[in-house]
Amino acid sequence: MRTDASQAAPNGGNGYVALTYDDGPDPSTTGALLAALRSAGVRATFFNIGRRAQANPSLVRAQQSAGMWIGNHSWTHPHLTQLGTAQITAELTQTQEALQQATGTAPRLFRPPYGETDANLRAMESQLGLTEVLWSVDSQDWNGASTAQIVRAASNLQAGGVLLMHDGYRTTIDAIPQIVANLTSRGLHPGMISPATGRAVAPDGRRPPGTQTAVPPDETEHG
Ligand code: ZN
Repeated sequence: MRTDASQAAPNGGNGYVALTYDDGPDPSTTGALLAALRSAGVRATFFNIGRRAQANPSLVRAQQSAGMWIGNHSWTHPHLTQLGTAQITAELTQTQEALQQATGTAPRLFRPPYGETDANLRAMESQLGLTEVLWSVDSQDWNGASTAQIVRAASNLQAGGVLLMHDGYRTTIDAIPQIVANLTSRGLHPGMISPATGRAVAPDGRRPPGTQTAVPPDETEHG
């Protein structure tokens, strides 16, 4: 099928975007959020708060088993650029440890609370092997946006872009079907965030749904 889209990606779409959910896990919303994402057939990135992850490790494992990617969002959600080096280190490393304990893997992605960053914080992220991830579109769900307003914000996503949302609002959960329908209509696919670039890319190297080619069993690697 030919289209007029001159920037079409080779796999039959216009590229990838990343859906991100901050500030969880939250016993009152994480389960419903994961159910909505699974029902829509999409994967997202969860930037978890360390102390909440430590208090709710089963929810972190639920994120993982639902196919979500997991990132570090600090231990207590402070204004990190106002803290000293020792405090910043503790905020980052305690969260790495709690998430590693829950999932078996240390995160590679970090989102600073409030998007506040500076050269000092970036240097410390880098020492821990973390890639800083901000966003290209803010859903404003944290600011009382309605489901319709969240959907409208998501319609501004472009290929490679990252949408800021939060685990904690019913409005955000209710927006998922319409967000996915809008992306699909524009040939965009929810993907993962590349630890190399901080931008949205194909999920785990796989192709978009519908174009995936099965790997023959004798060519799979075990390990
Ligand atoms: Zn946050």
